[in-house]
Amino acid sequence: MVKCSFCSREAIYFYKPGNLYYCEKHFLEYFYKKVGKTIRRYRMFRGREHIIVAVSGGKDSLSLLHYLSIMSEKVPGERVSALLIDEGISGFRRKTIENFLKNRDKFNVDYRIVSFREEFGLTLDEMVKIGLEKGLPYLPCSYCGVFRRYLLNKVAREMGGTVLATAHNLDDNIQTFLMNIFRNNWERIARISPVSGVISHPKFIRRVKPFYEIREKETTIYAIIHGFYTPPIGCPYAKLNIRWSIKRQLNRLEEKYPGIKNSTLNSLLSILPVLKEKYSELKLSTCKICGEPSAHDVCRACIYRRELGILS
Ligand code: SF4
Ligand code: ZN
Repeated sequence: MVKCSFCSREAIYFYKPGNLYYCEKHFLEYFYKKVGKTIRRYRMFRGREHIIVAVSGGKDSLSLLHYLSIMSEKVPGERVSALLIDEGISGFRRKTIENFLKNRDKFNVDYRIVSFREEFGLTLDEMVKIGLEKGLPYLPCSYCGVFRRYLLNKVAREMGGTVLATAHNLDDNIQTFLMNIFRNNWERIARISPVSGVISHPKFIRRVKPFYEIREKETTIYAIIHGFYTPPIGCPYAKLNIRWSIKRQLNRLEEKYPGIKNSTLNSLLSILPVLKEKYSELKLSTCKICGEPSAHDVCRACIYRRELGILS
């Protein structure tokens, strides 16, 4: 039996960069302390918030919902609700929705499930098929990301949310960082911030990432401890995205050189203030078709809808 570095109990987690072993009790202490520190350092919540948690039914978002619903009980006037977007990916999303519904009693929060089909008239699978038939140059993740962000903002606002919390973790953030370095897209890197920094618009709901500095492995352990972990079900489109290769390579590198993920995150955090300064002028306007916040005259969701032939 490997012992915890802080007591004599059995270790359930090994933090390789610090050469530290944690038992369940000390892991939870470490987890709560770390997330709490991130929330405070970046002033994510301003008191009496109605926090909308974007959930997928996977371990990360359920861990975040669990964590925030417990934390909010200590803050007078604060509320937490969940918002799940069903993109319509056969063999995938149904299962994660079932996982959310199966566990919802553990969270005791109001929730809404909104689908691409009911909002846009098509599932993501149907969009991908039409896009291929029309010869459109987009990957499934492009439609998915644009329409999901669009709905998260719109529905969170309709639900009366004051802030939208997403479960992006350290691994997600550094993958996005590297993806955008490869694409030379520094404006996108400026947005990989713990709090949505460069966007301001009356219809835009502020976004926060409380798990910004938490490793994916750590949310897995949190979910296992609280009994809502189910093995991840891979999205069938994931392998078409460069993120998948970057994730594998980063995991290999971390295995060989422990701490590389932390230093990549630190590189991102060092460059963010410079990028925020540079892109601070980014003011969102309003899409002239749908009225939602947009960087251009017409938002990306309406451009896709027009190209897919589903703009009524
Ligand atoms: Fe959507 Fe791509 Fe993620 Fe699948 S892998 S859920 S298509 S963003
Ligand atoms: Zn629009």
